[in-house]
Amino acid sequence: MQYSIKGWVKNSFCDWDSKISSVIFLPGCNFRCPFCQNWQLVEGYEDLPDIEWLDIESYLVENKDFIDGLVITGGEPFVSDFLFDMVKRIRGIGIAVKIDTNGTFPDKLAYLIENSLVNAVAMDIKNVLEKEFYSMACGISVSEELMEKIIESTKILMDSNVDYEFRTTLVRKFHTIDNLKKIGSQLKGAEKYVLQQYRKIGVRDGFDGGEPFSKEEMEKFQNEISQFFRRCHIRYYGADV
Ligand code: SF4
Repeated sequence: MQYSIKGWVKNSFCDWDSKISSVIFLPGCNFRCPFCQNWQLVEGYEDLPDIEWLDIESYLVENKDFIDGLVITGGEPFVSDFLFDMVKRIRGIGIAVKIDTNGTFPDKLAYLIENSLVNAVAMDIKNVLEKEFYSMACGISVSEELMEKIIESTKILMDSNVDYEFRTTLVRKFHTIDNLKKIGSQLKGAEKYVLQQYRKIGVRDGFDGGEPFSKEEMEKFQNEISQFFRRCHIRYYGADV
């Protein structure tokens, strides 16, 4: 089966908490978040060259003692029809797998978890788990049915034994403390929630999400909502991003 992989970071220290990972980027996504940092993988990616899977696989095998696992990100990995095939190969050679997802494919997520094909999952929470709020942040009109799928994914993760995190990229244009409190009450009891700083650099031309929240503002949010989660963290990238 042909795998389409558009990016590869051989060694990363920041894509899987406290682990050294290799990261691959798969093309395509069913969302159009205006603050997307990887929008080249969402639209117009067809012209990007594919990275040879066998090179990645050989690298993982050769560096198994050094690399803790493979992070599969994108884009939205679940839109790729080769994902299961690829993950089975990776797990077959004893490499741990983390998947980054927008949560719109609960059946596929459940399949990977039930078959021990994934070790960790990071799921984006774009906004309050209601279609009007979600539609604002993810760039498409979210139907009731799609919203239910996203909520189902949150439940699958919370009921699983897999290592997971929920995370929200905080965009001044979309997020307020009231929104975050609402998300907190909707995901109450979750293992880990991460507030990520929005980065202006790298987003599509023309999108103005407002100034990224400062570290102090993010800490204030964290103080207000950490009661809802077992762990609530901040990912702050710096003042000039
Ligand atoms: S879900 Fe992720 S990859 Fe897809 S558009 Fe949104 S930020 Fe980009």
